[in-house]
Amino acid sequence: MTTVLTHKDFAAERATWCPGCGDFAVLRSLQEACVQLDLAPHRVVVVSGIGCSGKLTSYMGTYGFHTHHGRTLPVATGIKLANRALTVIAAAGDGDAYGIGLNHLIHAIRRDIDLTYVVMDNGVYGNTKGQTSPTTAAGVRTPSSPLGAVDEPVHPLRLALAAGATYLAQGSSGDPAHLTRLVAGGIAHRGFALINVISPCPTYDRVRTYAWWRERLRNIDADAGHNAADPRRAWEIVSQRDTEVVGLVYHAPGRPLDERLPGFAASPLADETLAPDLDRVRRILDQEYAL
Ligand code: SF4
Repeated sequence: MTTVLTHKDFAAERATWCPGCGDFAVLRSLQEACVQLDLAPHRVVVVSGIGCSGKLTSYMGTYGFHTHHGRTLPVATGIKLANRALTVIAAAGDGDAYGIGLNHLIHAIRRDIDLTYVVMDNGVYGNTKGQTSPTTAAGVRTPSSPLGAVDEPVHPLRLALAAGATYLAQGSSGDPAHLTRLVAGGIAHRGFALINVISPCPTYDRVRTYAWWRERLRNIDADAGHNAADPRRAWEIVSQRDTEVVGLVYHAPGRPLDERLPGFAASPLADETLAPDLDRVRRILDQEYAL
C-alpha cells in the first residue's frame, strides 16, 4: 500500500519565530513542495546558517545541518557531492546569503551545483535586533542606520542572473501557494536554483509589511507576455530599478556539476568500495623495486 505523505511528515519541533514572521510561510512552502514532489523525508537534507532563518533546520522533519554564518552553500555542496541521490536544500537569510556568504553564491551558480537555495530576505538582521543588512534599501532607518541606510542594496536577482543562474525566482511569504510552486520548481530543476523570498520581519521592520509589499510586488507568472526561457526578457525584468517582481524570472536547462565531474561516482560515496585493490598495490610496488 502506498503511503500518502502530508506536510506534517516534513515537520519537526514547533517553530518559535515571532508571531507574523514571514519565515513561517517559507517553512510551510518547503514542506508542501516536498509533498508535491513525492519526496521521502529521509532522502532530503536541509542546510541552514546563522540568523532567524537558521532555525529552519530544526523545524524540518528531514535531515538537517545547522552550520556557520554564511557557509550554507559549501556544506550543502559537500553533501550533494558525497551523495547525489539526496535532495539538498540550503536555506539562509539575506545577511547570511548576500553578506558574509555572497562569494559562495557566485561560485555555486557558476558550478551549477544541483541545490535549491531558499533565501528569506527581510532586509534586516532580525536575529540581532534589526540592523541594516545587505538588502536594506537606501534611506531605510534601522538601529544601525538611525538617519537612514547610506548604501545601495544588493539586488539578488540581478546579481544571480549576471552570474549565470539557470533557475531564478522570487516569491513572497504573503502568497504561500505561489511560493510553494516556485520552490517545487527549484527542487525539480537539475542545477542550481535560487528562490529569493520577500519574507517580512514584523518585529523590526514596521514599514515593509505584508500590505506594503502587496502594493508593490508584480506577479510576472500571471503576465502572459513573460517567457522565463528568454534571457533578454529576464534581464529587462531584473534591471527595472523601481519594480519588484514575484514569479519565475529565468529558467534554462542546467549543467549540474555532478554530471560534469570526470570519474565522479554515480552512487553515494558511502556505497563505494574504498578498500585498496591489493593486487594492484603489489604490482605498483613490484615495478618500483624492479627499477
Ligand atoms: Fe522573524 Fe524578525 Fe522575529 Fe526574526 S526577529 S523571528 S525575522 S519577525
